[in-house]
Amino acid sequence: MRILFYDTKSYDETSFNASLSEARYNDIQIEYIKYDLDSRTAALADGFDAVCAFVSSDINAHTITILHEHGVGLILMRCAGFNNVDLDKANEYGMRVMRVPGYSPEAVAEHAMALALSANRRIAKAYNKVRENDFSLSGLMGFNLYKKTAGIIGTGKIGAAMCRICNGFGMKVIAYDVYENPSLSDFVTYVSLDRLLAESDLISLHCPLSASTYHMINLDNIVKMKDGVLLVNTSRGALVKTEDLIEGIRMHKFSGVGLDVYEEETKNVFEDRSDEILEHSTTARLLSFPNVVITSHQGFFTKEALTAIAETTLQNSQDYIIGRESPNDVR
Ligand code: NAD
Repeated sequence: MRILFYDTKSYDETSFNASLSEARYNDIQIEYIKYDLDSRTAALADGFDAVCAFVSSDINAHTITILHEHGVGLILMRCAGFNNVDLDKANEYGMRVMRVPGYSPEAVAEHAMALALSANRRIAKAYNKVRENDFSLSGLMGFNLYKKTAGIIGTGKIGAAMCRICNGFGMKVIAYDVYENPSLSDFVTYVSLDRLLAESDLISLHCPLSASTYHMINLDNIVKMKDGVLLVNTSRGALVKTEDLIEGIRMHKFSGVGLDVYEEETKNVFEDRSDEILEHSTTARLLSFPNVVITSHQGFFTKEALTAIAETTLQNSQDYIIGRESPNDVR
């Protein structure tokens, strides 16, 4: 089986080659390219059985049609999310889409807490001040998380890990989800979204992007939040309506905002654009606020997670080769 691996970075090649060296993957060959998958690059997969894509790939109906015309039967997402794949089109062509649903929930949850702490205690600002020999504490005051309320939206694998971390910090943990996670019943209280917004000192988003969650953090919901709330999004950028977030920051609603994902990220993710002038960037507007910390979709980026992503993706390929159903199939 031949897989064309799009949007390759050196760390992808290292982790996949390490897993590929195992004898049970002898039937699998990977060719790595740096271009991302979209309708312009889909034809490069001519002669390959499968493509491997990531969070910024644009796997719309047109991209899928081109892949199908070139004989590709499998789209391997090396991530949990699949909001960038037109599943209806893939189903129409009988093309299989597989993902890595839970490679390391702790990797993302720990990053969510890192963002919460960095925004709350102004770590980025403090680091830059000290580098300039400015040892004053002005502008650096945060608040204790201990005994405060964490509101977790979405309590699947990553949200549950974030609940455990917040519990470990001595926080009261409340949550909102369309389904309750029974493994959390000892220390998490499920509440309505409105109650979570009103009572939480830290709100962390962990639900997928879908029609029901698109722009769930908008001005209507921001005004329901406590003044001085910390907001963290490590899930998908479009859960938050950026213009409304900026409005909320201007209203002094937030003590801190930590974003690993944001609506404008697709062009930026994993690219060095430091020499460019970003003329119409809302990201630049967000970064102009002293209480906002942004990272570039790095929640997944730990050694353990990369190894797990490679192993599950290769296992998914193996299941495809032998025609075995998998819980990692996306329909
Ligand atoms: P999961 O499927 O285990 O959990 C998602 C939870 O969201 C489920 O419990 C589901 O019931 C809930 N949910 C769905 N719709 C909802 C709604 N309308 N309101 C409230 N809750 C809702 O997924 P996961 O593995 O925990 O991942 C969560 C998200 O994290 C992924 O969808 C992905 O977008 C994001 N993610 C980000 C990174 C990163 O590097 N920053 C890495 C992996 C995943």
